[in-house]
Order: sequence, then structure tokens, then C-alpha cells
Amino acid sequence: MQHSTSSALVVSGWHRMSYSFNDNTLISQHLESLIRKLHAFVGNAVTQDRYIVFGAGSTQVLSAAAYALSLANSSSSHSPTRVVASVPYYALYKQQVEYFNSEKFKYEGDAHTWRNRSESDASTNVIEFVTSPNNPDGLLNKAVLHGPNVKTIYDSAYYWPHFTPIPAPADEDLMVFTLSKLTGHAGSRFGWAVVKDETVFNKMVLHMHVNSIGVSKDTQLRAFKLLKAILEEGTQIFDFAYQTMKSKWERLATTLSLSNRFSLQKINPQYCFFYNKVRESSPAYAWVKCEKEEDKDCYAVLKAANIIGRKGNVFGSEDNYVRLSLVRSQDDFDILIQRLQKLVSEEDGAISM
Ligand code: PMP
Repeated sequence: MQHSTSSALVVSGWHRMSYSFNDNTLISQHLESLIRKLHAFVGNAVTQDRYIVFGAGSTQVLSAAAYALSLANSSSSHSPTRVVASVPYYALYKQQVEYFNSEKFKYEGDAHTWRNRSESDASTNVIEFVTSPNNPDGLLNKAVLHGPNVKTIYDSAYYWPHFTPIPAPADEDLMVFTLSKLTGHAGSRFGWAVVKDETVFNKMVLHMHVNSIGVSKDTQLRAFKLLKAILEEGTQIFDFAYQTMKSKWERLATTLSLSNRFSLQKINPQYCFFYNKVRESSPAYAWVKCEKEEDKDCYAVLKAANIIGRKGNVFGSEDNYVRLSLVRSQDDFDILIQRLQKLVSEEDGAISM
């Protein structure tokens, strides 16, 4: 809102009507180069000598990545590629594999289960989704599985100073980012992958052609305008987002520190090369645990207090966990805090302040 003019977009009715750009690709080179500048400015990803693919949100990019990697795999084995992620995991990976029901993949659940088996069963291809920082718990996850037949897709949606210290520029083979968590423009549906391998990149480009003939040019224009406005203002949007998330996290942590019934995930502080200091995380979600034996259904406990979270089992976890979103509006957050305060104050033996 503070930059509504510099970030505004007006498009003439006749403008940008064709499928492709002048260079015959479906990817705006202007937008691509802004994305590289942005990563260099933030220091969260290496993009030099890397390829960039666009998608309709990271949702489309993630499925393109899985298809590309499973195609790259297919010569060495006929069995479907095992898709895994470590618990608690973002539900979409499982949902996509199961919904698209391709003979190329099979969702096999928790990556840890396959850690020891992967060596003895070396011929089976594996794709591990690594969400870092993780949705729901905000941890900077690392790949659990390694080996010649293991491919890793890093979902780096939250790897911005808003949510986490940036200990180093990420330099993984395949990293996925999204405008949704960078600027909040989830409805524009824009995501991208930074890819090391040219063959994988070409397969992802092919996937985008077959799947949707690329990303809407209107979306690309909108993303371009937003990223341009961001880069013109130095660290402003990052300072704003970090302060907003930090203040929410501190209020939430203070509220739940008075509780014996509910606990919050712990994330170790780290050195952040964006802010040049050791700092705490300021995650997008609270991964709340109901500590009491009788509160097995933590979702129901919170629901009774008019707080709607997402059940632990959605993330492959137990139902004594619930995820609460901290990336809704400030009003929603204020109401959440009020309701949590009330709930905590009604606890037997609650710590008073
Ligand atoms: N990855 C993660 C880890 C997410 O949390 C989300 C959104 N909740 C997405 C991907 C998908 O976001 P989008 O398709 O809007 O980029």
C-alpha cells in the first residue's frame, strides 16, 4: 500500500496477445533477469550458470520438477519412482502424486523410513521433496536421502529473510520459489525453479508447454512490476516482512509461554548473511503441540476455543499437533492471540504474569 503507484500495472487491451515472446520462448527474459538480481541481492540462492523455469505458482513448478526428474530416471529402472518427504511434510507433494496417479510415481511417505533401505535397494529411483524452511514447522530441513538414484527437489518457498535467517545462498540442483510467499501475491499464481542441469531444465520447459503453454503473460508482467518495485526500494520490503513476522512470533511465543497445555516448535537462531547478525526465525506457521495425554485431538481442543488450525495428520504427523497460520491478516492474528490468551488463562495451573 505504501508503494501503490510504483507497483501498479496498466495493460492496454491490445498488448501481449500472443503465446510467446519475441525470442520464441514462453519466459520473459526481463523477468528472468530480475529474479536473478533479486536472489543476488538477498543472497538466498545461487543463480549464476543456472536455468530458470516459470510456472503457475510453485504448485505447477513442483509437479513439473517431479515429472522431469522421473523422466530423467526412467532408463535405469522400470519400477515407479518413490516420492518421499520427511514428516511433518507439506501435503501437496503427496496429493499431487496420488491425484495425478501416474505410473511413473508412487508416494511412499516419510523419507526417514527409506534411509537405511535405500542402500540395499539402490536400483529404485527416489525423489525426495525437501521443504526448507519447512511447512509446517519452519525448520531449515536438509535432504535425508542421498545416492546415485536419489533426486532432490528443494521447495524454498519460505527461504526469505521474512521467515528465516539466511545462513548461505542455497545451491541445490533444483530449487523452487514462489511469489506467493515473497510478496504475498498468491492469487497471481507465479512460481519459478532454479535448475542446475540442462536436461532437467529442458524437460521442465517441455512439461510447461504440454501442461499449459507456459505461464500467463499477464502474470509475468505483474510479477515483473512487483519485483522491479521491490528492487528499487532496497531492503524495505524485507525489513517490513521480517518485522511483521518477528512481532507476530514474539507475541505468540509470549502467549504460549504461560501455558502448560500447549507448546510451540523450537528453532535455533543462526547467523543471517542478509542482516549480518545472529537472529531467530520468524516462521510463517506455528506448529502447536497439545502436551496433555487427554488432548489427543489438538485440532478439536483449539476448535472448541474458536481457533481453526490444520490437523497434524494432514502433514503425516500425529493429531496432537496443529498448524496455525501466521501469514493471514493482522486482524486475524490479533483475534487469534486474544482467543489463545483466553484459552491459556482458563488452564488449571496456568502460569500467571
Ligand atoms: N510449497 C510450500 C511449502 C507451500 O507452503 C506452498 C503454499 N502453501 C506452496 C508450495 C504452493 O504455493 P504456490 O502454488 O502459491 O506457489
